[in-house]
Amino acid sequence: MSTTTTLVPFEDALTRYEPVMGLEVHVELNTATKMFCGCATTFGAEPNTQVCPVCLGLPGALPVVNEKAVESAIRIGLALNCEIADWCRFARKNYFYPDMPKNFQTSQYDEPIAYNGWTEVEVDGEVFRIEIERAHMEEDTGKSLHVGGSTGRIHGASHSLLDYNRAGIPLIEIVTKPIEVPGDKAPSVARAYVNHLRDLMLALGVSDARMDQGSLRADVNLSLRPVGTTTFGTRSETKNVNSFRSVERAVRYEVSRHAGILDAGGSVVQETRHFHESDGSTSAGREKSDAEDYRYFPEPDLAPVAPSREWVEELRATLPEPPAERRKRLQSEWGFSDLDMRDTVGAGALDLVAATIEAGTSPAAAKKWWLGELARRSNEQGVDIAELPITPQQVAQIQSLIDAGRINDKLARSVFDGVLAGEGSAEEVVAARGLEVVSDDGALSAAVDQAIADNPDVAEKIRGGKVQAAGALIGAVMKQMRGQADAARVRELILEKLS
Ligand code: ADP
Ligand code: MG
Ligand code: ZN
Repeated sequence: MSTTTTLVPFEDALTRYEPVMGLEVHVELNTATKMFCGCATTFGAEPNTQVCPVCLGLPGALPVVNEKAVESAIRIGLALNCEIADWCRFARKNYFYPDMPKNFQTSQYDEPIAYNGWTEVEVDGEVFRIEIERAHMEEDTGKSLHVGGSTGRIHGASHSLLDYNRAGIPLIEIVTKPIEVPGDKAPSVARAYVNHLRDLMLALGVSDARMDQGSLRADVNLSLRPVGTTTFGTRSETKNVNSFRSVERAVRYEVSRHAGILDAGGSVVQETRHFHESDGSTSAGREKSDAEDYRYFPEPDLAPVAPSREWVEELRATLPEPPAERRKRLQSEWGFSDLDMRDTVGAGALDLVAATIEAGTSPAAAKKWWLGELARRSNEQGVDIAELPITPQQVAQIQSLIDAGRINDKLARSVFDGVLAGEGSAEEVVAARGLEVVSDDGALSAAVDQAIADNPDVAEKIRGGKVQAAGALIGAVMKQMRGQADAARVRELILEKLS
């Protein structure tokens, strides 16, 4: 059915239709233990080593709510300007899937812990307000691994393996109200929103928020309506989109696909869709009606959650500075241009640059090393800049050696090599690799004499008053001393000798 749909180019689709989006973002909390039991939540542990009767749903096992998870849920709700429920309950969402051992997911239904919020995202200097419908608590499912097929999908596999370590890890699901922004902005607003949530979760310290590891996952709902109309069209729900770029691509693709169906006089099927990284397309998942009967009912084994107003206010006082405000503040403190700031944020280096400056480096130098030398190395190695084996404190130490005149920029590159290779602190690398600048007059003087002897014509010019020509001699001395000469002192010596 949908595989034969003609895709309408995005811009063309926007001449006839307006997109409406809804984003559901799942955030895995970084609590030490699971939502309703004491099992550990360590990522990447041996399969089925972090399980117990509660998270395996064995008969008679009784769950207990993780207070730290409730605390994180409230802080997330507050950071999203939500109202926090005085009293709310968990609910059972009943369905069968092998990765969910209880045959129901403990979630929240009509009584979410946080609701009616809003937040703002910025795209190309324009601010968009996103209304938040609710943020509710639930638990993650286990993971299935389909073996024997070529694609890793269930289709074609000979058997499946189940790992329940993730079953019961606390999740917060953040659901927006329908987002109605100008169609051409929709893909970037969706991307900016998910990016903004990630920043917010990191600032709150409640999650690793790693899309690549699934600790932050986005479902993209999208529908089209004819330009100038108000009734929403039928939506599709593209599940588990796992990068910012993919969020943007999924929106674009679904706009093109829906427009193709509508242009042909067809109707969009309300269904889940899978997103394909390879070509940015989506394919049909399962049909899903709004009247889906999950037989929700209040969870009888858990006490209601009734956070006192005092607790909520205490938690409000722990909220971090909102990420967008922090960026504005830092930009003005550092004297960065809009472009400097965009480059820094884009390189994922904001916190690294901030920590380097905090450790005593000037903003310009911190930016130079992280966006130059270190960004280049992270690109070459295909790792996140934050994953390079060097700390902001180490970068600050290298810069302080430069400021003290003990190394120059060129030698600093070798110090970076050494520190990144695990050879120790900047000081240790300088000592072990013999990288210190030579400013001892004895050694420098001999090298300057040699350079003068080798370049009599240049020396003659300087004698005749052409001081700019000293650069050529400094270069010659540097070459002799493998870049380790103190350039300022060399210059003084040249001028002394030739005046
Ligand atoms: P479900 O249980 O099907 O995932 P939710 O209410 O949790 O439904 O989430 C649906 C999301 O889609 C919300 O963000 C909502 O604002 C949005 N949404 C609802 N109707 C439409 C529509 N017609 N077009 C686009 N988005 C929609
Ligand atoms: Mg949902
Ligand atoms: Zn458990």
